[in-house]
Amino acid sequence: MNAPHALWLFSDQLGPHFHSTPEHRDREVLLIRSAAAFGRRRFHRQKLHLIETGMRRLAADLGGRARIVDAPTYTEGLRRFGKPVVVHEPGSHAADALVRRLHDEGVVAEVMPTPGFVLSRQEFASWAAGRHRFLMEDFYRDQRRRFGVLLDLDGHPAGGKWNYDHENRRPPPGRSTLPVPPPWLPREDVIDERVRADLDQAERDGAIHPVGVDGPRQFAVSRSEATSALRRFLDLRLPTFGPHQDAMLHADWAMSHALLSVPLNLGLLDPLDVVRKAEERYRDGTAPLAGVEGFVRQILGWREWVWHLYWHLGPDYPRRNELQARTKLPRWWRELDADQVEAACLRTAMAGVRDRGYAHHIERLMVLGNHALQRGYDPAELTGWFATAFVDGFPWVMPANVIGMSQYADGGVVATKPYAAGGAYINRMSDHCGGCVFDPKKRVGETACPFTAGYWAFLDRNAERLRGNPRMRQPLNGLGRLSDLTDVVAQERERRRF
Ligand code: FAD
Repeated sequence: MNAPHALWLFSDQLGPHFHSTPEHRDREVLLIRSAAAFGRRRFHRQKLHLIETGMRRLAADLGGRARIVDAPTYTEGLRRFGKPVVVHEPGSHAADALVRRLHDEGVVAEVMPTPGFVLSRQEFASWAAGRHRFLMEDFYRDQRRRFGVLLDLDGHPAGGKWNYDHENRRPPPGRSTLPVPPPWLPREDVIDERVRADLDQAERDGAIHPVGVDGPRQFAVSRSEATSALRRFLDLRLPTFGPHQDAMLHADWAMSHALLSVPLNLGLLDPLDVVRKAEERYRDGTAPLAGVEGFVRQILGWREWVWHLYWHLGPDYPRRNELQARTKLPRWWRELDADQVEAACLRTAMAGVRDRGYAHHIERLMVLGNHALQRGYDPAELTGWFATAFVDGFPWVMPANVIGMSQYADGGVVATKPYAAGGAYINRMSDHCGGCVFDPKKRVGETACPFTAGYWAFLDRNAERLRGNPRMRQPLNGLGRLSDLTDVVAQERERRRF
């Protein structure tokens, strides 16, 4: 019998659901590694480390089954490999176009649906066809129904409610850290050591120009590490996942977050398996429903929604710029120079990106994204920044989160209103403002909070564009009542201190 075609895996397809199902376990596995791709953009140093370590670890785990081919491009890598391959749908428009072209040319024998997401692209297309309402909440409920997650026997949502967001938005608890066991952390080994030495050399040779510090690795890169990280989260941190999901603490970067986006996005964990395991914790009484529902919503709802929107909204969507935001990212932002930043919330979030390539969701949306929105940073450039500076950034995850949700650059396709907020919000949801040089209540003067003043300047700049949005009526009315608006706008135009 002929040997089956080899399986070509991308670097975000590293888990057994990609390569070791009965259909694939007899196939040779091809990994193509491109040093040139690492040098093309300014990736976070820890991101390069994670991807490179993940590929080498998989090759080691698969033993004789795996072959790593070094090549400047995928096409060249396949030529060097010299045999036709099968592949799963990749995670970007560019890679998708490439594999489909290679399929037409016979180099790729088959393009299979990706097991990296619960719902297939085809199923989503049927769900989306002819819809009037296009809401994450509708999608999420249908996902729960379709896959039978957190439902009672009669098909109603467990506990009688679909949504526990209300219970999951509490302010910080009045202490400097959450009383939660620390997250799982990897123990670096000889593969990390070699990767670190190779990246050091590449940096010295000028082949790569990474940003951020090369801290110890924080996230899982192999299947066994990913299952350990998941288990620790489910055992010790899921029970407290819900209530403070939207809060920020200066001295607690991880809080109760899952820290699973890296292993999920590297394809090391099967998302439906993660969801089912979380549901078990509710069923066996070890985690409360509100927290489990909140977590399931992130994976089965948001993560899937963002993936499908990437394909649904198409390759031109990231060029949307509804608010005509044209400011170039400043140097301190591109260099992750947190020490240049005075505002405690912004400095903490930026330091997280510099030190770990990670900030949690509210820091991304309400601090970094909010700042970028207020200052009118170019959304496409900002998208590139998020994609390269964050260890969990991949092409598919950026457009809906950055262009849509955080920058409102699509004019309301993904979010119903801009996520712009002043210092009062940050003060309510964090412990940053107490020790900050800026005062969240002040909008004019030396100590005026850049978020508070920036909020009004943002509204003023975009008032005409936002006037048709009913959810903006109240803030725009507030703007009209501001006696010192002219001073605020003039001050923010000249602002250099953040
Ligand atoms: P938790 O808060 O514990 O959530 C659990 C899991 O849910 C995450 O691991 C993630 O897989 C999934 N999830 C939740 N929300 C989203 C979402 N909106 N989009 C996709 N997955 C989601 N997520 C990324 O995976 N990569 C990114 O590059 C990324 N960039 C973002 C940029 C902006 C401006 C914003 C607003 C959000 C971004 N997110 C991104 C979504 C979210 O912030 C991260 O998934 C989350 O902070 C990762 O940390 P965690 O694993 O501790 O997640």
